[in-house]
Amino acid sequence: MQIAVLALQGDFAEHEAMFHRLNIPTCQLRQKSDLEQEFDALVLPGGESTVQGKLLRELDMFDTLRSRIQEGLPVMATCAGTILLAQQILDDTAVHLGTLGISVRRNAYGRQLSSFHTTGTFGRLENCPMSFIRAPQIEFCVPGVEILAEHNGRITAVRQGSQLAMTFHPEVATDARIAGYFISEIVQASR
Ligand code: GLN
Repeated sequence: MQIAVLALQGDFAEHEAMFHRLNIPTCQLRQKSDLEQEFDALVLPGGESTVQGKLLRELDMFDTLRSRIQEGLPVMATCAGTILLAQQILDDTAVHLGTLGISVRRNAYGRQLSSFHTTGTFGRLENCPMSFIRAPQIEFCVPGVEILAEHNGRITAVRQGSQLAMTFHPEVATDARIAGYFISEIVQASR
């Protein structure tokens, strides 16, 4: 098994370290030719969604990645990655990959709360570390999207088929259970 991590911008190194903790090899996607490698799943890291979306298009990686996700490639997205997957970005005319049935609002937590750390329940996993860093908010989900986590009444993690997306960063902590959930429940289940 190999997990491809989009490595154009943002905290891709933390995601790689998390999978290495689970003894799962990763490869980086930095340019179009990297898409020819064999990989079983994709990680879209946090960072800046506008920059990531622009680079995906400029480097001509956009269409291939979108088609592979539409065909069922398992994908795990955090924060900016979730914005890339969302079918609608509120207060914005942009849509990036648009494969996930959610509407998001960027930078939805006020200035003072724009970054904070907490722990919460994710599916059946309790006390998971969750870091919110200028996080978006998931305001709407289409039917069929499963809600896996909420914080103060706001949806913070969802799954739709083989797409897993969260507004926080689990990868900045050392707790690898959410990455483990992705591997066992989505990647291995889809093989
Ligand atoms: N605010 C960023 C954006 O809009 C996301 C922040 C993050 O990924 N931590 O893309």
